[in-house]
Amino acid sequence: MHTVNEYLKTKYGCKVYKLSLQSDVTCPVRDGTIDTRGCIFCSEGGSGDFAACRTKSIPDQIMEAKERVSAKLKQDAKFIAYFQSFTNTYGDIDYLEKVYRQAMEPEDIVAVSIGTRPDSISEKMYELLGELNKIKPIWIELGLQTIHPESAKYIRRGYDLPVYDECVKRLRSLDIDVIVHVILGLPGETAEDMKETVRYVCSSGVQGIKLQLLHVLKGTDLYKDYLEGKVPVMTMEEYMNLLKEIIPLISDDIIVHRLTGDGPKKILVAPLWTGDKKKVLNAIRKL
Ligand code: SF4
Repeated sequence: MHTVNEYLKTKYGCKVYKLSLQSDVTCPVRDGTIDTRGCIFCSEGGSGDFAACRTKSIPDQIMEAKERVSAKLKQDAKFIAYFQSFTNTYGDIDYLEKVYRQAMEPEDIVAVSIGTRPDSISEKMYELLGELNKIKPIWIELGLQTIHPESAKYIRRGYDLPVYDECVKRLRSLDIDVIVHVILGLPGETAEDMKETVRYVCSSGVQGIKLQLLHVLKGTDLYKDYLEGKVPVMTMEEYMNLLKEIIPLISDDIIVHRLTGDGPKKILVAPLWTGDKKKVLNAIRKL
């Protein structure tokens, strides 16, 4: 298994930190285009609760985000500008171009990572991303979560699998690296279902995968289902056992960007053990 930290250290010769930034966009599962309620698990922050303040300019957000990691900073550190919350290719293209260009401008920013959905990249946006990728690497992070239609319907993902396949094809034709988000532990999915999703992603031509254990966050519709007993959550031991089966499915050419997630503690309802990041990382190291 190749982790993103190892990959970046080898590529850039130093520690590379992600700076979470926000563009002023929404997403089609919130603005009424697909739905108004958001994906069932998504928090008010649009699944990016650790990002800098969205009302600030990008240069200010970069400064603010650097300050937040300043305690850990090594002198020769480099950064990746990361647009995580909401759908960061969904909005006015001139505005987004300005935002991306500002994010890639500082010399110590080595790449721009853009979180989005495969159904939210217009023709013009593909062109723009291809152009920018020639200046500095652009990574596109796609929230696929699962390949299973029933689960996709439950989480209100709002697009079908062929849309993902087509998007990956387009991005790869522009030589853009694609990182895919997968949620493990969706209600009703067996270990075999989750393994099928991981196998599918790994053979779909992408460069990275992010595995996230399903988190129940306050204020989400998933929380309501959880209160009604419809959302089983894994213990740490169960999750580690699952990872032991899943990690060998990830081929060496795919970079593992994450093996779990840590929802913001103030709204994290379950599983609470994920809040103890140190313990979780230690358990993962022992796998
Ligand atoms: S997870 Fe992404 S696509 Fe779904 S509601 Fe949240 S921001 Fe929108």
